[in-house]
Amino acid sequence: MVKARAAMQTRGKGMRPSRERELPEQWLPLRRALSVALIYLLAGFAWIAFSDVLVESWFRDPETLSRVQSWKGFFFILVTGLVLFAALLRQLHKDRALLRLQFAQRQALRARERQLTVLMDNLPGMAYRCRYDRHWTMLFVSDGCIDLTGYEPADLVNNRQLSYADLLDDATNERLQAEVKAALDRGEPFSVEYSLTRRGGAEAWVWERGRGVIDDDGETVLEGIVLDISDRKALENELAELATRDSLTGLSNRRELSRLMEEELERARRYQRSLAILWIDFDHFKEVNDTYGHAAGDAVLKSVSQLLLDSVRTVDSVGRFGGEEFVIVLPEMEVAEARDTAERLRRQVSSVQYPLGDGTAVPLTISVGVAVYPSHGTTAAELCAAADRAMYCAKEQGRNCVSMAERSDPVHNGA
Ligand code: GH3
Ligand code: MG
Ligand code: MG
Repeated sequence: MVKARAAMQTRGKGMRPSRERELPEQWLPLRRALSVALIYLLAGFAWIAFSDVLVESWFRDPETLSRVQSWKGFFFILVTGLVLFAALLRQLHKDRALLRLQFAQRQALRARERQLTVLMDNLPGMAYRCRYDRHWTMLFVSDGCIDLTGYEPADLVNNRQLSYADLLDDATNERLQAEVKAALDRGEPFSVEYSLTRRGGAEAWVWERGRGVIDDDGETVLEGIVLDISDRKALENELAELATRDSLTGLSNRRELSRLMEEELERARRYQRSLAILWIDFDHFKEVNDTYGHAAGDAVLKSVSQLLLDSVRTVDSVGRFGGEEFVIVLPEMEVAEARDTAERLRRQVSSVQYPLGDGTAVPLTISVGVAVYPSHGTTAAELCAAADRAMYCAKEQGRNCVSMAERSDPVHNGA
């Protein structure tokens, strides 16, 4: 104890604040008040003791002494009064400044809260703070939660009704965990897109951006926003659909079918399987347009497309290559089976009358060229060219018939 006091004394005045810091906060005012009272008492006792001795030694006359004693008392009261006044004034000034500061801080805090509330209420999604655990346990969610998920914030906070993870499927949860972890490991914010199931079962696409922060307990929590991007996703899907579908018939367009053909061809090569291509052109279709009009021609195109689609297997792909030319990709199909399939389709098309939209219907026939991998070509371009040539042979043979491609390359004549 003595050692400690000595150490404190050697450290001098500069160390006083650190000593104060060691005391519990609530004791500081008491300590200061006691110090001031102690100084006052010491000064008072010293004044009374020394001034009395001095005055008595200077003034021997009892009457003068009594008067001087009274003036001495007045003087003491005046000095202590002035000191008290100065100390109080200083303290009151300080209190006033403190109150003003507190008031300004409170105003600023309220203004910030208002701004935050306005921001959160107008956010086209929800702001959140959640634990970094497998449930994404929400600690706070803004009111945007209702629009986004259909649930009240209170349902999600602390997983009261359900956890945020319950809104996601297992695969999405796993992907999210992996992406968030990777971003946190890099010390960067994360951005993720995923779909969640809203209250009632509807699906919503969302975009989330967040970051990891360390909370007061030293635990990592996540903070961020989740925005509804369902409209954008729908538009993207629509665009993707437009890019791959033929708008009149709904079949794959030329680009998409070419892609599918390459994909199937690659599979056929890898597993050494065959693949057939049917090249179909309507016979005298111009006459349908010329006689009944373009709209009637469109109606026929749609009906025949549907018939072709309904007449092949689910693994087959039907596409409109342009005009009234259609291509069908038939995976794992040998030459004989391909010829039979083409023949069956030709018969089916010719056995039906096609409505023109005005109550009447017309018959239609098709000419089909057939090429098979690897017998008639090994690339998509070779197969298409062979099937197209075969189709023209069918036209030359009088239409409404099937023609097989020529075996052009003896190396690939294994089929
Ligand atoms: P061929 O038997 O020789 O094939 O005779 P064709 O009249 O069918 O001749 P071709 O195949 O050369 O002509 C295709 C016609 O298909 C020309 C065009 O009027 C019509 N056509 C192409 N695309 C469309 C379409 O989107 N809608 C309609 N209604 N007709 C189309
Ligand atoms: Mg034609
Ligand atoms: Mg044509």
